[in-house]
Amino acid sequence: MGYKAFGDRDLGFTTRQLHAGYNPGQHNMAKAVPIYQNAAFQFNDFDRCGRLFAYEEDGYSYGRYSNPTTEALERRVESLEGCDTAGAIRGQGDGADSSSYDDFVQPGYSGPVVAMASGMAAVSGTMLNLAAAGDNIVAAPTLYGGDMTLLTKILPQYGIQGKFSEDPTDPASFEAMIDEGTKAVFVECLSNPNSYIVDFESIAEIAHAHGVPLVVDNTFATPYLFRPFEHGADIVIYSATKYLAGHGILVGGLAVEKGGFDWLSGGRYPWFEKFYEENKISISEDKLRNYLFSMRLRMTYLCDLGAYMSPQTAFYILQGMETLSLRMERHVENALKVARFLEAHLNVKSVSYPGLPTDPGHALAKKYFPRGAGAIVSFRVSGGIEAAKRVISRCELFDFMVNVGDVKSLIVHPATSTHFGQSDERKLAAGVYEDTIRLSVGIEDAEDLIDDLAHALD
Ligand code: PLP
Repeated sequence: MGYKAFGDRDLGFTTRQLHAGYNPGQHNMAKAVPIYQNAAFQFNDFDRCGRLFAYEEDGYSYGRYSNPTTEALERRVESLEGCDTAGAIRGQGDGADSSSYDDFVQPGYSGPVVAMASGMAAVSGTMLNLAAAGDNIVAAPTLYGGDMTLLTKILPQYGIQGKFSEDPTDPASFEAMIDEGTKAVFVECLSNPNSYIVDFESIAEIAHAHGVPLVVDNTFATPYLFRPFEHGADIVIYSATKYLAGHGILVGGLAVEKGGFDWLSGGRYPWFEKFYEENKISISEDKLRNYLFSMRLRMTYLCDLGAYMSPQTAFYILQGMETLSLRMERHVENALKVARFLEAHLNVKSVSYPGLPTDPGHALAKKYFPRGAGAIVSFRVSGGIEAAKRVISRCELFDFMVNVGDVKSLIVHPATSTHFGQSDERKLAAGVYEDTIRLSVGIEDAEDLIDDLAHALD
């Protein structure tokens, strides 16, 4: 029986979101990915234990490092994100030519996708892997609040500083912040809450000219709406809690490496050089070079800080991802309808949604988000915070919740929730005012969503 779908990158996105990276032939022909509820796995023979610990062989040993269910998710994301397969020497690439259920795919995975317990675990693991005391990360000033806290309060305790571009619409303002100690440039695909878009290709060019990678948090867009690796990104991060899983039922994260970034030249990352020297005998040199960031993230921070994704979480994300493209199409369609309605409403001062032709980010949205600019719509209501409070309280269909990316529509007041405690300057940079309301537009019937907002606003 043919089993082309395991590793065929030529298949469409929707086909791969259902089949890629999992071979039922190795799991009792179970079509849905089974949940492997195990803390540890048998070694079977004495020498195999040594080979697994030396990473000479991929396989499962302990649930904090790897698990077959979580591995299926990692392999599926690797396919959907379009990681470079040049380094697919062993394990993650063995299925690439699979055409039969019987084809052997080396179990165990140490490829370019690392599944973690939350989006914040993926972000913090990434930053710790990239920088050390004395270094800095250059970032957009509009980042998610948790990232802001990480870069301005937690990492500085360990000698790593966050430095912020003053005007993210101007790529030169990122360059102005880069110095010898810079280890990465970090931006989001669509900012929170206003879905601001940066010029990814220009920023990537600047980062690369300084020998540092571009890291993109692609949570709000998902690989269906935005393809960061095709526009210069080297590392992509997800809070899978949001659209990837899609149903508001779990917390999870992913760090994904494109592959091929040169971590070894120029002396900027001495810890990668050391890691390479220490492991090049046991791990194939090609694979190690290609995926040095993710190998080190997995073998050091994942193993010893301990934030691997649980198999149940991976299972639910896999279920959610089976409908990712369909959900995103509907999210985007509804978001545009809602944004158009808001734009025309007398009690709305302004709307921020780059899908609108009137939005300052529309040209970049057309370039980078041809399938639609996500489903986070924010607006300012006339009448200040009191009016914002009344609108949120009067909504009956939009749920008042701080989450985004659920199939169900959500509403929140950023100034008193997601951006609570941030300085006025930071709030202003993020476009958060007392009268700003953020919507995460779900997949309900758009007419019902518009009726709900009309009732609340009128
Ligand atoms: N990145 C973005 C853009 C987010 O919105 C969030 C959470 O809201 C995170 C990262 C953190 O993800 P998690 O809540 O899964 O830790």
